[in-house]
Amino acid sequence: SPPSPRFHELQLQDVFIAVKTTGAFHRSRLELLLDTWVSRTREQTFVFTDSSDEGLQERLGPHLVVTNCSAEHSHPALSCKMAAEFDAFLASGLRWFCHVDDDNYVNARALLKLLRTLPQALDVYIGRPSLNRPIHASEPQPRNRSRLVQFWFATGGAGFCINHKLALKMAPWASGRHFVDTSARIRLPDDCTVGYIVECKLGGRLQPSPLFHSHLETLQLLGAAQLPEQVTLSYGTFEGKLNVIKLQGPFSPEEDPSRFRSLHCLLYPDTPWCPQQAAR
Ligand code: UDP
Ligand code: MN
Repeated sequence: SPPSPRFHELQLQDVFIAVKTTGAFHRSRLELLLDTWVSRTREQTFVFTDSSDEGLQERLGPHLVVTNCSAEHSHPALSCKMAAEFDAFLASGLRWFCHVDDDNYVNARALLKLLRTLPQALDVYIGRPSLNRPIHASEPQPRNRSRLVQFWFATGGAGFCINHKLALKMAPWASGRHFVDTSARIRLPDDCTVGYIVECKLGGRLQPSPLFHSHLETLQLLGAAQLPEQVTLSYGTFEGKLNVIKLQGPFSPEEDPSRFRSLHCLLYPDTPWCPQQAAR
């Protein structure tokens, strides 16, 4: 009989997708995600928030995680949510952890295609480098000393992924209360802290990928033909201007300012609320 494969080909069911949100954005941002990409990844997606919400609870059930993290834009509050995401991922036993913000679109097909190219046997941390050089931090040392460290990190707002093997090694700095402590020690936000743990504590490396996108880059530069290949997209403002992907219909910019509904219809034309293609 043929040897049974030790590894099955990666499926979407192997991926844990964590979305970070906050009470103030449940209506304005999350509904859009639930109507679009989350409708195609429902079993794999967990939403981490700071406020209970009956309507959301009804739509998401156990996939809505109401953390005890405070509803503010402080380093501790955001790190508290990242820790909750990380712990839920480890508890799930799944093969990949992917974090996104609530203004990201996740293209599940492109994500799976990318993750399938990555080596399961090695430690993997993949995303879009936030800066074009490593960031510096001061790491406290015993006897009031400190050490200058530098490392690359992936922009949280573009999404990033970590495999199970690496996540297990990160646990001493990233699980439970440790993540908030680690973040406080280097006095940097949650996404920087992930990079610090991977590169400075574990000697790992960020694998840069141009397929992850935040609204801190000019999204209009992506060509229409490239859009279906991108793993994440975003919308928002950059340098005071509206920053969205450039995409023809089916919905107008007034109906669909983020362009996520139009993108979703391009990727999944059989969606009931997408205008059906004219019969030929
Ligand atoms: N966020 C949060 N608590 C806050 C403010 C923001 O958890 O008090 C989350 C928000 O839901 C999003 C991420 O942090 O997932 C980034 O927020 P936003 O897009 O507003 O800011 P940006 O850093 O992208 O300018
Ligand atoms: Mn944002």
